[in-house]
Amino acid sequence: MNSDQLSDQRLQEALKTAYLRGKEVTGKGAVATYIPELGKARPEAVGLCITTKDGKVYKAGDSNIRFTMQSVSKLLSLAMALEIRGYDTVFEHVGMEPSGVAFNSIVELDTRTKPHNPLINAGAIAVESLLIEYKQFEDMLNFARTVCLDPEITLNRQVYNSEMATCDRNRAIAYLLKSKNVIHTNVDTSIELYTKICSINVSAESLANFAMVLANGGVNPLNGERLLKESTAQTVKAIMFTCGMYDGSGTFAVEVGIPTKSGVGGGLLSVVDGKMGIGVYGPSLDENGNSIAGITALKYLSKELGLHMFA
Ligand code: GLU
Repeated sequence: MNSDQLSDQRLQEALKTAYLRGKEVTGKGAVATYIPELGKARPEAVGLCITTKDGKVYKAGDSNIRFTMQSVSKLLSLAMALEIRGYDTVFEHVGMEPSGVAFNSIVELDTRTKPHNPLINAGAIAVESLLIEYKQFEDMLNFARTVCLDPEITLNRQVYNSEMATCDRNRAIAYLLKSKNVIHTNVDTSIELYTKICSINVSAESLANFAMVLANGGVNPLNGERLLKESTAQTVKAIMFTCGMYDGSGTFAVEVGIPTKSGVGGGLLSVVDGKMGIGVYGPSLDENGNSIAGITALKYLSKELGLHMFA
């Protein structure tokens, strides 16, 4: 099914029902509190946004609330590293296999020569360390503004400071990576960059826009401008499909079938390839650290609109 074939009314109605279904389950999850500032989010908040290639925007609920990207930002880092350092260099430092363990696991990492994939913490720290000599945080922020088609994206200082005060586990990961010669940068510099990128403030609409650019092979469909190489978009989407939902990636691929990346801030970025981008905000998380309302809403949208990749 093509987004052009879905009427405005059908899409808007489906989005509204998805929102209501998501809202119903928010009480079954919990907001992340291990970064204290994230604990201030309203657990019942749910926002959805769909952007289509022909420039249409559909919204439901809290779609304009700003929240931090957290692990959704791992897509930004991966895309930028692929563009700047190239495929071979990136995958010399990080694998491309699902990890089957928690996003911030250390035990497994010690048994390996490099992190499982770029979408877990260890992998993102490795990827971002590849950028340090080439790019500053300001460049990453501008890159986020460009690919999310959102000039208002900023750093959320409160969340950044809160995570910097509580990120001992990520520091431990970075030291381990350094001891294994996966990263060669200063650990503090790597952790500061990683934490800043996680603390970029977006909305469901910004995520939907980035997803739409990926769905369109790296080209902004609204003006035809190429923002990413086609090969970058392809690699990012493939890794999202297999590794984007942490330990829930396999189930999500089977049941929803839309390449998606989650973050503990409650964001989900979903690429309906060739058709549309979907952005979600829902800070109540399930046991894997994925938005519980978001998963429910996407499951509904996938079935109702026939969006499963293999439908
Ligand atoms: N900044 C978070 C961390 O490093 C990101 C985790 C996530 O969103 O899954 O723990």
